Amino acid sequence: MPAPVSGLPPYDDTNIFARILRGEIPSRRVHEDEYAVAFHDINPLAPVHVLVIPRGRYVSIADFSASASDAEIAGFWRAVGRVARELGLEERGFRALTNMGSEGGQEVPHFHVHLFGGQRLGRMLPAAERTAPAAER
Ligand code: AMP
Repeated sequence: MPAPVSGLPPYDDTNIFARILRGEIPSRRVHEDEYAVAFHDINPLAPVHVLVIPRGRYVSIADFSASASDAEIAGFWRAVGRVARELGLEERGFRALTNMGSEGGQEVPHFHVHLFGGQRLGRMLPAAERTAPAAER
């Protein structure tokens, strides 16, 4: 497996989502198929907060988008859509989000998409957190 394009460290097989995939620690699964597993976030930030992860060993969206096969990418994103639909989130709307790297606030180094729903979610980022463009920092 090549090193991730993001420059992050190589995939760590001891990360918490790798352990969830292997069944070493419990999760409240809502979906699983050949390409993806979805489960409730342990610390929900909305009435519905589910994580969708690929089964493959990808550190981040940068790694996944560069290194996963077409079948893995298609299978993963179809699972994201299916989970949102099956959770009943489509009608009122929801948010899909992925964090990447330190400025993105990524804590677990296995690519995952957060699905948030069940309430009005407001702006993408709190206004106070919007800062100067990168060039000015
Ligand atoms: P991120 O900051 O995008 O890497 O998000 C990591 C997410 O994983 C956080 O929302 C955590 O609450 C969640 N999380 C961490 N450990 C677990 C776990 N054992 N089961 C479910 N979710 C978890």
